Amino acid sequence: MKIKRKIKKNNEKNSINFLRDEDGNFSIMISALLLIGFLMLSIIVLNTAIENGNEENEIISSNSFQYIMNDYIRNLPLLEREALEELSEDVIKNERPSLDSKSDLKDRIDEKLIEKNQEYYDNYNILINSSLISIENTTNPFSYKFKAHIASVKGDYSFDNIVSSDVDCINLRDPVPLLFCKGYHGLSWNDTSYNYGNSLSEFLKSNGVENYSFYENASSPLIVRKCPYDPYVHHGDDDGKIMKNCRDNGYYHESRDGACYLCRLEGKGGCEHYGFETFINPKRTNETGRVSACGSDHVIFSDDIYPGVEVIYNSEDGLNEILYLDPHGHKVKYGMSDF
Ligand SMILES: [Zn+2]
Ligand SMILES: [Zn+2]
Repeated sequence: MKIKRKIKKNNEKNSINFLRDEDGNFSIMISALLLIGFLMLSIIVLNTAIENGNEENEIISSNSFQYIMNDYIRNLPLLEREALEELSEDVIKNERPSLDSKSDLKDRIDEKLIEKNQEYYDNYNILINSSLISIENTTNPFSYKFKAHIASVKGDYSFDNIVSSDVDCINLRDPVPLLFCKGYHGLSWNDTSYNYGNSLSEFLKSNGVENYSFYENASSPLIVRKCPYDPYVHHGDDDGKIMKNCRDNGYYHESRDGACYLCRLEGKGGCEHYGFETFINPKRTNETGRVSACGSDHVIFSDDIYPGVEVIYNSEDGLNEILYLDPHGHKVKYGMSDF
């Protein structure tokens, strides 16, 4: 028994040695290989996870870059319109026309863009370079096409494009009456209209117009508002009530002969662009059958003032509300031939 026991012990001892010795290196190698395999697998899994993470980050930052640039572009027309309003206010405040309204606007807008770009750099770390490249008249005389070149970079993302926006002059002040009559006495204005006092009649007198005195204390709109009564031949409808409403609201009308807004800022009554016109309303009168300068503003404020006949579109308390219109032009255009 003792021997058996011994043998068994020896056998056990031998089998342990057998593992440790001859095949010991082999099993260590297997373990090492397994470990390396596991490590490599871990690295691959980890890399994939990191890559996925990076891709997500990229999508997020690509989206946010796009979002920020869209926001920038959305703000452009507001900034451009602000510049237009400021230029218009300066012309009126200084009573001096702009020598080149498009170039003045470019200067103002480029200055605003520099400020805006700094703001975007500070807030989003996006480098933006932008400037106004053109202002174009359109088929809508109340609206211009402003085009700006925008280039921006953030890391791997960039944007380089010409962005155009529609900018209108609705609700801005019309400086034309002021620029033409400032040298004569009596011009004043409130929130909505000019009151000429003696200024317009003096202006007409110095331009050789007979019956200039019929424009004493005349008035005309200050704020550019587009007439909704289109087609214009309907102004004579309803016994002249449409024209009455148009004049009470001081509306402006599309006109090939009238100056566009940017040319008005330069002190022009007419220009080569498709523009607009409004009317100058003589004060109410009880006299009839008179003739004076045609009351479209592009005729009054031009080098070629031609006559208009009296058109009574409303009568109240023995006083007539009138316009002086040329029989074959403006009377026809506005459907007032029978008045
Ligand atoms: Zn109208
Ligand atoms: Zn023009």
